[in-house]
Amino acid sequence: MKIILLGPPGAGKGTQAESICQEYSIPHISTGNMLREAIEAGTELGLEAKSLMDAGILVSDEVIIGLVEERITAPDCSGGFLFDGFPRTIPQAEALIERNIKIEAVVEIDVPNQTIIDRMSGRRMHPASGRNYHIVYNPPKTEGKDDITGEDLIQREDDKPETVKDRLKVYEDQTSPLIEFYSNLSSNDALKYIKVSGTSSPNQVTEDIFYKLKN
Ligand code: AMP
Repeated sequence: MKIILLGPPGAGKGTQAESICQEYSIPHISTGNMLREAIEAGTELGLEAKSLMDAGILVSDEVIIGLVEERITAPDCSGGFLFDGFPRTIPQAEALIERNIKIEAVVEIDVPNQTIIDRMSGRRMHPASGRNYHIVYNPPKTEGKDDITGEDLIQREDDKPETVKDRLKVYEDQTSPLIEFYSNLSSNDALKYIKVSGTSSPNQVTEDIFYKLKN
């Protein structure tokens, strides 16, 4: 199964990605997490990406496409994968088509902007794994600690309120055109486009996604 998860920052893509990947036994490919790993490792890519990411600006299509292209050649991707945060622009989506990478389903998680702004302030992340939590909606078992490793959780620089508004604008301008792009493809291709509301509880959203993917 090859799936794309689409939606604004803070829609709950990371949380839903974990459930979908478990259900279909496919790897979770988050370009945001890959870039954060590069920053953590201090690579050239990380150095290049850091200031853009902190400001909520997109990294170049060329860099991202190269990163994804390499990742999907790994053996764990042979049975499919889930893209989270990719593609984020029309050229990135076109790159998949040019490379004959056939996506089977696009899952759009729809959440109003104000809800996102409210949510982002409570978001916390475990930097080493990319696992996401929310202090109200998806709290860790122990406050401020990762459920699996017990390590400290952090607030991402780009989840700070002043950056969130910029990221929503970037989504509106550069990523939301993908909604029409994939909706159009689904009418004449073997691609399934599904849309769920991301305002209910994480479990309810997962149920809605599974129902629509399987029916
Ligand atoms: P995310 O964790 O998906 O919200 O991504 C965090 C940041 O990483 C974004 O604000 C961008 O700066 C960068 N990024 C992640 N994925 C992409 C992508 N597909 N294209 C361009 N920039 C990306």
